[in-house]
Amino acid sequence: MHYLITGGSGFIGTHLTRRLTEAGHEVTVLDDLSAGYDWEHLSPTGAHLVRGSVLDRFTVERSIDDVDWVIHLAAVVGVQRAMQNRIRTLRVCHQGTQNVLSAATARHRRVFVASSSAIYGKITNTPVAEDNDVLLGSPQKDGWLYSTAKMCQEHLALAYHHERGARVWIGRLFNVIGPLQSGTGGMVVPRLVTQALDDLPLTVYGDGKQTRTFVYIDDALDGIQRVTGRGEQATPYNIGGTCEISILDLARMIRRIAGSSSPIRLIPYREVLGEDFEETQKRRPSIDRLCQLGYAPRYSLEESLRAIIDHHRRDPE
Ligand code: UDP
Repeated sequence: MHYLITGGSGFIGTHLTRRLTEAGHEVTVLDDLSAGYDWEHLSPTGAHLVRGSVLDRFTVERSIDDVDWVIHLAAVVGVQRAMQNRIRTLRVCHQGTQNVLSAATARHRRVFVASSSAIYGKITNTPVAEDNDVLLGSPQKDGWLYSTAKMCQEHLALAYHHERGARVWIGRLFNVIGPLQSGTGGMVVPRLVTQALDDLPLTVYGDGKQTRTFVYIDDALDGIQRVTGRGEQATPYNIGGTCEISILDLARMIRRIAGSSSPIRLIPYREVLGEDFEETQKRRPSIDRLCQLGYAPRYSLEESLRAIIDHHRRDPE
């Protein structure tokens, strides 16, 4: 099988490219390398790099010509990065996804669209199932732009499916963590791990009572492969873990596993994310739909954090 992975040199894309090439598949990565990941990570895999943007329609069309599957991961990832690149975040999600869907539909290629838990917005009756209503805040509140962009991406995928016969599969990824994830977009685990290992204060935003449910990269990849292997078309699947934890407890856990003496510092949102920032207070997926495809996450949060911390120790960025 030949896969095109858009955004394939990023955190999830790198792991997926390795897994697919190790299984004997051919992989082409379409990436503009704007997220700061180094292609060197992937050159030993034999994957081909097309250096370009999903915003460039002709590059997308050419890249899709020879493949069987498109795994569409390209996005401006991370709350902080998205807030600093608002127009680009919207364009990559909308125009980039449209370029992918249009080119793939014309060539009858299958497409996996990587959506996000962000689309559920500030819903607090967790666990959230795929058919639940979503609750997005006002556009004047920072924080909902990414959620809205991702929601629009899902609508585009469904619209192409219903009106043009696009072959689409959709996965909503919930806080994927693992080695090689960068903290530059604002992601909490790589940030806190680096801080703990450097004995710097752990920066916990707000009161730290907000919760997330993290999933280890290997489990997330398993989820993606189950959706593309046996999933229903045009049906969103939550891809996530089971252990919901507050960010304050996460910081304590990282500090303990790292054997660090870092203090924990609570930082008001307005100092890091601006006056008008509003965020999700609770997030946990229902994974029943994915479990029906045989999914069963294997890594506990403790094991995941140990693997990440060991990796940071061996290969500090
Ligand atoms: N967060 C934090 N300290 C940091 C970075 C993030 O307390 O240095 C918080 C952030 O406010 C959010 C949670 O950690 O409540 C998860 O943030 P992340 O950006 O990793 O994921 P998302 O908000 O997209 O779920």
